[in-house]
Amino acid sequence: MNTLLDEPQPKMLRMKKMKSFQIPNLYKSPVIGGIKEFRRRQDKLKKDFTPTRLDFGPVQFLIARHFGFCYGVENAIEIAYKTIAENPGKNIYLLSEMIHNPDVNRDLQSRGVRFILETSGEQIIPWDRLSPDDIVIVPAFGTTVEIQQKLAQLGINAYQYDTTCPFVEKVWNRASAIGKKDYTVVVHGKPSHEETRATFSHSKESAPTVVVRDMAEAQKLARYITGESPAEHFYPEFKGQFSENFNVEKDLQRIGVVNQTTMLASDTQAIADFLKDVMVVKFGIEGRDVTAHFADTRDTLCYATNDNQSATYGLLEAEADLAIVAGGYNSSNTSHLVELCEHQLPTYFIESAAKILSQNLIQHYNLHERQEVTTVHFLPQKRPLSILLTCGASCPDAVVEAILHRLLQFFPAARPVEEVLEEVGVL
Ligand code: SF4
Repeated sequence: MNTLLDEPQPKMLRMKKMKSFQIPNLYKSPVIGGIKEFRRRQDKLKKDFTPTRLDFGPVQFLIARHFGFCYGVENAIEIAYKTIAENPGKNIYLLSEMIHNPDVNRDLQSRGVRFILETSGEQIIPWDRLSPDDIVIVPAFGTTVEIQQKLAQLGINAYQYDTTCPFVEKVWNRASAIGKKDYTVVVHGKPSHEETRATFSHSKESAPTVVVRDMAEAQKLARYITGESPAEHFYPEFKGQFSENFNVEKDLQRIGVVNQTTMLASDTQAIADFLKDVMVVKFGIEGRDVTAHFADTRDTLCYATNDNQSATYGLLEAEADLAIVAGGYNSSNTSHLVELCEHQLPTYFIESAAKILSQNLIQHYNLHERQEVTTVHFLPQKRPLSILLTCGASCPDAVVEAILHRLLQFFPAARPVEEVLEEVGVL
């Protein structure tokens, strides 16, 4: 059977799998780093997704098995800080936020790095201000072919300080492989997210491409596949989400799905299964080889997304009273961890310990209202209180440790941290 599973792995994935990176100390945490290292030693094959339980007496914390800086984020941070150190006096730009974490972005800006584009793609610094001597760092999400070409026109090498995560490049390779086999690429991703914009841009070089945000949009697309919706409605309905010259009648005969690396695994699987079923029914190929109309491939979620989501399911098996999820509010992978937690218990999505205003008051991001809200009495009176704690792939361990210490302040009878860490074997 024709399969895409044997596609070549990006070079970096093969060569640098076990690489460890130089990360500034301000992002590290002795407590969280110690817990992670302890768990890593106990479970080198990453088969155990149960959380680490820290019992402080009146309060217990359940710390997820996996969370925090991933390969792509550490790689990007190492390159960015090295670039700053090696190029004093030069203009150093980032195309946009390097990763979706406010602490990291603020620190880079405080060292003189300037952003050219908003996360949304709006221009902050006009291109004509740049000169060939300037340095432009490409963020971990990658960038579009159009921006790569723009930088080349300006005499700037877009590949010299490129922090594009190899797991994002893997999606581009997958899209290209599908395209070369005459499939149209359906990208499951957030259309305005930098990574999906970059993936869309690279994919359309080799294949007609359309982006679907979620199952509702996949269902809309399905109605064009089956012919239930008139073709001419496609163009306004998917405005900005399809490649130039996309032809609904011709380009929905053979499709393959790739996805933004940080989507919710269950959503991505459901969308791929749904579109496959639509093609099977449309072309009457039940029980036959589907690859004539649907590319046989697997999801393009990255390892960190899978590990962090699996660890969150592991976390949610424990009895708890509330969950705290730390990360940037525009972080896709973090928002999916929040979604998983909030189905089960009160969940507070915060970017730092500073959002815990007092024992009674917390300022947190409401994903559905897309704004920060304030909740009173977020810490129940129950004792012992049980709190789940995790964060996204772009959140420093130092932020998680600060949240732990901040919450412990409200429990004066709590046992000392060292004593608890010693008890679980971390120290
Ligand atoms: S979340 Fe995944 S794709 Fe994104 S930077 Fe990290 S490893 Fe790379």
